[in-house]
Amino acid sequence: MAGTITYTMIKPDAVAAGNAGAIIKMIQEAGFRIVAMKMTKMSPETAGKFYEVHKERGFYGELCAYMSSGAIVPMILEKENAVEDFRKLIGATNPAQAAEGTIRKLFAKSIEANAIHGSDSDENAQIESNFFFATTDKF
Ligand code: ADP
Ligand code: MG
Repeated sequence: MAGTITYTMIKPDAVAAGNAGAIIKMIQEAGFRIVAMKMTKMSPETAGKFYEVHKERGFYGELCAYMSSGAIVPMILEKENAVEDFRKLIGATNPAQAAEGTIRKLFAKSIEANAIHGSDSDENAQIESNFFFATTDKF
């Protein structure tokens, strides 16, 4: 059975553009409950650890620099079928290919600065949530 938790973070481009509020509103209107949330900024080292699975990809260095360039808003979200439904809400990695009405279609600037993260599996949702929040942070 699909899990009920996913992890997201609003990325530096969307926070800097003042779109965090509009994005949070879309997330809540889509039926996700915010279980944990904060505003923080990653060091390049922390971004490197978070994106370690991508370290062999050509864009890894730039991605870590970009993800540590400004404030982010990490959140843990709860809903039935959370991971899959949230990937639908955010749209394709490349905003040029993202469906109409998705968060990335509306707010992303480029394939890299694409406004928002969404976990790709229940296992990664758990790992990524634990990366940013202690168990006691959740309510
Ligand atoms: P997603 O975030 O949709 O799960 P990936 O896990 O494949 O996408 O990639 C992680 C992040 O790396 C993307 O959200 C995006 O910020 C960045 N990225 C992905 N592909 C590219 C690319 N070809 N060039 C630059 N950055 C990329
Ligand atoms: Mg991914």
